[in-house]
Amino acid sequence: MTSEVVQADLRTVWHPYTQHAIMDAPIEVVRAEGAYLYTRDGRKLFDGISSWWVTAHGHSHPSIAAAIAKQAATLDQVIFTTFTHEPAALLAAELLDVVPRGLSRVFFSDDGSTAVEAGIKMALQYHANRDHANRGQTRRLVVALDNAYHGDTFGAMSVSAASVFTAPFESHLFEIARLPDPNDGDTLAAFDALLESRGDELAALIVEPLLMGSGGMRMYDATVLTGLFERARARGVLCIADEVLTGFGRTGPMFACEIASVSPDILCLSKGITGGMLPLGATLATEEIFASFLSDDRRRTLFHGHSYTANPIACAAARASLALFDEESHTRRTTIARVHAERMAKIAAYPTVTNPRLLGTIAAFDLDTGGGYLSPVGRELTAFALDHDVFMRPLGNVVYLLPPYCSTADDLHNAYSVLEQFLSRR
Ligand SMILES: *Cc1c(COP(=O)(O)O)cnc(C)c1O
Repeated sequence: MTSEVVQADLRTVWHPYTQHAIMDAPIEVVRAEGAYLYTRDGRKLFDGISSWWVTAHGHSHPSIAAAIAKQAATLDQVIFTTFTHEPAALLAAELLDVVPRGLSRVFFSDDGSTAVEAGIKMALQYHANRDHANRGQTRRLVVALDNAYHGDTFGAMSVSAASVFTAPFESHLFEIARLPDPNDGDTLAAFDALLESRGDELAALIVEPLLMGSGGMRMYDATVLTGLFERARARGVLCIADEVLTGFGRTGPMFACEIASVSPDILCLSKGITGGMLPLGATLATEEIFASFLSDDRRRTLFHGHSYTANPIACAAARASLALFDEESHTRRTTIARVHAERMAKIAAYPTVTNPRLLGTIAAFDLDTGGGYLSPVGRELTAFALDHDVFMRPLGNVVYLLPPYCSTADDLHNAYSVLEQFLSRR
């Protein structure tokens, strides 16, 4: 029996990444707490993918909820030109304290895609600003990795890999240069060749540090990231790190860049920034980039902004979330990593499992069934796991767990047991 809510949904709602012609009726969630989602029909589901990778500490965390309520009743929203406010100004300062060295300015937006859009525009306009002053040739080309994913708006799609996501829009995307995914080819050699042939045209390199999320939870070595940044820096190419997914403890340390000891010129943040409670994006830049926009010529302004830029409630949520990254949070993430390592060793023994991999709180493997992203095996696993009160949503044949940090060892062991049951039936 479908609830009134589900009936209304089926009549009125258009869901993201959902083929409505073949979708199952959505499940009505009425409440969430910690690592669990509670459904209308009385079920308690383990949220094995942190509700699309955003939930950090856990759902409905009381201190973030309290900060949101307090802020909403005090200052809900105000235009962010002419005015400033405590949540934004103090959040900016607190972010700068925890991000890799060298960044000094914070630009707020709404989500991961807009954080990336702003980053790309900053990089292109930085070169335009400087070259205008020098009467030089403007660098216009952005280089990105194959299998990358940077968001769904047009600029973000342009720098993402060509895929089923971007195919209908391909002719409207701007030209970029692509380097092979480090899992598939020699990225650094390709970058050397590109720098040789088109180095003077390159404005920026954009990468997801160490983990290409939507492209299939593909992980790569820190030495590749270090090598890319060194080469870019040596040739005046700005380094943009898209840590929308990897930021805020997901890979172990606060930011994946720390693992490779690199500092980007531009850092894009979202997803876990509010602990997963409200949408917010941030694009951080160096003082050199910011300074290139300073001029009495108003054309050198960054003409970019969103209605809800630096929404006070979202900023208050982010500040409350940041305060939760203490010793205990670190210990919890370490426990998750330990259980992943222990259980993935067993998962790896199943004949259909290939390429098991681990990075911080994330574990992933491929199911050797063919079909890639459109493979039906992902939907089969989602249905099987739901029957066992675990929510996971493979990327086609790429299976992964990416749990909230409050998940207990038992939560994870249970999710792995469900996975093993699925694997042993194949
Ligand atoms: C999710 C994601 C984005 C896009 O963020 P949205 O909030 O969905 O717009 C960008 N980059 C990476 C690496 C992501 O994982």
